[in-house]
Amino acid sequence: MSKSHKSITKAVEDSRNDELEPKCLNGSQEAFAITNRGEVIPCCWLDTSVQKKEVDYGMLALASHIDDYDTIEEIFLQDEWVEFRNNLKQGKGFGICHLVCKKRDSPQHKRMTVLSNGKEKWTKET
Ligand code: SF4
Repeated sequence: MSKSHKSITKAVEDSRNDELEPKCLNGSQEAFAITNRGEVIPCCWLDTSVQKKEVDYGMLALASHIDDYDTIEEIFLQDEWVEFRNNLKQGKGFGICHLVCKKRDSPQHKRMTVLSNGKEKWTKET
């Protein structure tokens, strides 16, 4: 196991019981992503080797291959997605969720600045 893999694994373990503020539910970031393997997943933060070891996440990814459906909305109706969203609403996410979307006083993970004609138009931090 690499040094970075170990430190992410430890950070996820340490955050497991931390209170959640899910960015995918409060609109501060997109509510899904598509991997280069064709899986629709709840967000790009989850596409890590650490997260892939969690059985519930693996089941969601298995049920979410874009080639198996006509629309992305169909994927969101699968039991694994319904359970994931219900769990999030009750404060329970995947391991990485409790690290990335831990309730914090200030933004920590992402800053997006939009420029127009070379001048800052707006900045969003999550
Ligand atoms: S890490 Fe989890 S809770 Fe946060 S945006 Fe991604 S899926 Fe949602």
